[in-house]
Amino acid sequence: MIKMIEIDGSVGEGGGQILRTSLALSMCTGQPFTLKNIRAGRKKPGLMRQHLTCVNAATEVCDATVHGAEMNSQLLRFAPGKVHAGRYSFNVGTAGSCTLVLQTVWPALLLADGPSHLSLCGGTHNPMAPPFHFLERSYAPLMRKLGANVGLALRRLGFYPAGGGEIEATIWPAQDTLQPFDLMERGRMQEGFAECFAPALPRTVAQRELAYLETALGWTKEQLRIGTARQNEGPGNALMVTLVYENLSEVFTQFGEKGVSAERVARALVQEVRAYQQSEAALGPHLADQWALPLALAVCRRGREAAYTCTELTAHAKTNFDVIERFLPVAFLVSDARAGWRVTVKPAHEN
Ligand code: ATP
Repeated sequence: MIKMIEIDGSVGEGGGQILRTSLALSMCTGQPFTLKNIRAGRKKPGLMRQHLTCVNAATEVCDATVHGAEMNSQLLRFAPGKVHAGRYSFNVGTAGSCTLVLQTVWPALLLADGPSHLSLCGGTHNPMAPPFHFLERSYAPLMRKLGANVGLALRRLGFYPAGGGEIEATIWPAQDTLQPFDLMERGRMQEGFAECFAPALPRTVAQRELAYLETALGWTKEQLRIGTARQNEGPGNALMVTLVYENLSEVFTQFGEKGVSAERVARALVQEVRAYQQSEAALGPHLADQWALPLALAVCRRGREAAYTCTELTAHAKTNFDVIERFLPVAFLVSDARAGWRVTVKPAHEN
């Protein structure tokens, strides 16, 4: 009899990531779990549309037996079956992030015995979620370095509140190719550029945001781009800075909102970029929490430790480490590093 893992969704960060990491690793390891107090740390606790889509997607991919998969549910029991590679289509049905749905099933599908093709609908550029371009430029290249090949395509942008974005992903099996590696330094800077998507908004929004970045970051016109978007993909506004280094790329994003000036959006982005540039650590705050799961999987498969440095250790990261340790025989060790943190993932038998 496999033991049921009991997770309390109110501890640590207390948000949707506890659910997604539990689903992902339950599918990867075959261990069932019960999650109580789902998103207890949030104003509207329980499963929202995006979270429910993650549960339903996970259920479909591994023929799971599930209790509590309903809107607003604060208790979920999930018993996974066998993971099937295949063609899947998941639709959040609102502007909720479909990149988070992708991240929920990605780890299990890369351990499956054939390639999978996913079509995902919902928000592609949401506050508090990885935007598509972050997945494409930051996360996916690191996954490929880890030995997990993936193809990503953005078919249509999706912003809050309209949603309607579309992403396609092809995930190749990586059971035999996963290899943990250390990511301690960014390496030499190769390129930096900014990009503004502002469909169905006056062109001056993008122009003002990019003009602010030009002055504040001291960048040339060649480094500033207006992203291609169709009018019917809006209204929406995502302002992004991509920094390309030898060993990784980082993508920082801020979102425009009604009543918030273009300059304020750009200023917040400059602050994020500067905070990253002031540190020497490799991963920014978002990669630091998202890299933990795939790296831990690779560490487990090869029985060999690996480490990374990051600029910040957020509540998301710490909570994710704790949840991962509940499912996988690994330990996360955290120590100070030059202007940041060092995170080492060890196979548990080494402790
Ligand atoms: P909740 O509504 O419960 O807060 P959620 O399901 O929307 O939850 P979180 O638990 O907050 O999600 O997790 C959000 C994830 O999105 C984290 O992994 C975080 O690092 C990532 N994320 C947020 N903003 C960005 C960004 N700008 N770039 C990349 N990743 C991001």
